[in-house]
Amino acid sequence: MKKLNFFLALLSLLSGIAGVQGQEIPDKEKSNSPAIVSLEGQQDKSMAMVTYIANEGFLIQTSNGKMLVDALFGGIKGRWCEQPDDSLLNLIINGQPSFDNIDVVLVSHYHVDHFNEKMVTEFMVKNPKTILFCPDQVNQLLKKNSSYPQFSERVRTIHYTQHKDTSFVTGDIQIRAMTMNHGAYLEKDTITGELKDLHKDVENIAYLIKTNGCTFFHGGDASIKAFENFKEAFHESEKVDFAFLDRVFMQPAGMKVISELIKPEKLIFMHIEPSRVEYYKNVVKDFPEIFIFSKPLESVVFQKHSF
Ligand SMILES: [Zn+2]
Repeated sequence: MKKLNFFLALLSLLSGIAGVQGQEIPDKEKSNSPAIVSLEGQQDKSMAMVTYIANEGFLIQTSNGKMLVDALFGGIKGRWCEQPDDSLLNLIINGQPSFDNIDVVLVSHYHVDHFNEKMVTEFMVKNPKTILFCPDQVNQLLKKNSSYPQFSERVRTIHYTQHKDTSFVTGDIQIRAMTMNHGAYLEKDTITGELKDLHKDVENIAYLIKTNGCTFFHGGDASIKAFENFKEAFHESEKVDFAFLDRVFMQPAGMKVISELIKPEKLIFMHIEPSRVEYYKNVVKDFPEIFIFSKPLESVVFQKHSF
C-alpha cells in the first residue's frame, strides 16, 4: 500500500500543476536528487544498474546480462531531444566497456530519436553475439543495408498485426514484446479541417524484460490508451521492478495507468526535451522512487534488497 499511496500522492500533485500548465514551478531549495553512483569495483550479484544514454535510450545491466534499449540513434539536427554524441556512439558500436558483450538490443520503433538504421547495422556487424529485437517496420529498414545478411539470423522481428504479445528467451533473459500503439500526434488537415494522427501507423513495441530476478518494463512511445489492452496481463502476474515511461505519463491519466496497471517499484521518466529536464526533476524531487536523468552516462545502481 505504501507504494500505491506514493503514486496517488504524486497523482494529486500533478493534478495540481495541470491547472498552471506552461508555468514553471518556482525554484525551491535543491532537493535530494537520485543517487548517481558508479558500478566500478562493485561485483554484487544482487544488483541492477541502469545507465542513461539519451532520450529513451538506456543500458540495463544485471549479473545475467546487458541490454540496450532505444540507444542507437543520433545525428539529429536541433535540440528537441537529447541524443548521444559521436564519442559515446563510438564506444557503444565498437563494444568498448561498459558496452562490451551486449546480449540484447531492443528497438521500440523506427522514429529517429529511437533508432538509426546505419548505427544499428554497424553495431550488429561489429558485435556478432548480440540478438536484436525490433518491430517489422524497423527490420524492413535494416534489410536495405548490404550488410544485413551478416546479422539477419540474429534479428527477432515482431510482426505487429499478427502477434499482440510475444515471448522470447535468450540466454538468461526473458523478453515479452507487446504491441502498444504510439502516442498520437495530431495535425489539422489544411483542406478538410479534420484532425489526423500522423503516428497512427507507427509500430511501437513495449518490452517486459526479466533477468536476475528483476523485471524491467520499457514502453517506448506507447500511448496512455494502449495499456488498456494489457490490463489483465499486468494485473494477474506481472510484478514490475522498473518501469521506463514517456514523460506524458506524468499527466493524471498516465499516473492512473501506472498506479493501477503497471505498479512498478521504481519509475524512470524519459523522453524529456533537454530544456525541460530541470523542470521535471523539480516536479518529482520529493519521490525517491522516481528517477529523471540529466545527462548521458548517468547511472543508478539498485541493490536487490532495495526493491
Ligand atoms: Zn516516436
